[in-house]
Amino acid sequence: MNTIDPHRLQELVRDPDQLLRQLGGDGVSFRTGPLPDPSEAASPRAVALCCSDMRELPERILGSAFGPISTLQSAGALLTPTMEASIRYALATTDARVLVVLGHLRCRLLEHCWAGRPRPFVLEDLLEPAFQEARRIPGGNLDDVVEVTARYNARRARDLAQSLRSSLGRDVAVVVAIYDDVEHRVTLSAADDGSRVPQPPLSAGGVDVQ
Ligand SMILES: [Zn+2]
Repeated sequence: MNTIDPHRLQELVRDPDQLLRQLGGDGVSFRTGPLPDPSEAASPRAVALCCSDMRELPERILGSAFGPISTLQSAGALLTPTMEASIRYALATTDARVLVVLGHLRCRLLEHCWAGRPRPFVLEDLLEPAFQEARRIPGGNLDDVVEVTARYNARRARDLAQSLRSSLGRDVAVVVAIYDDVEHRVTLSAADDGSRVPQPPLSAGGVDVQ
């Protein structure tokens, strides 16, 4: 197998035909950067539900504050049924006592939907309650939508964590985090009861790991 310079790979991903040609035959390998200590990597201290369109790695954003994290990503960091199942699994298979819901300013999904463009099917029901709340904020803008959506998801995540309390045998703190990629700053706060907007029920079942 050939070794490839990661910089060369970055060029190739912009030219899929060339990339596939390069990967023909035995394929290629490249060296990753330094990896965390395996003993630490095996025991994440937090599980993080993050938006999938952030331009920075969640591990890099949260790592300096939270240490090793187990990362799950979905559009808008929305707590979809699939994400619920993944969070159940992540909490059941680690000792993490913190669950972070990480939203970010300038989120393209939220910007797209807040502008009234077609919303992705399935995500509609998860977006609308937070959007309704954001519309009630005088002069509400995209930053408000990002924060309200993260808080809405965090409340649902907290309900999930509480429903797992007896099977996990521990409490899990749910934290709202908003990342500003211009200021390189993360703002943290606790999930709160700031809204009475009706929430869709959590999906039944999910992954059962005992
Ligand atoms: Zn986003």
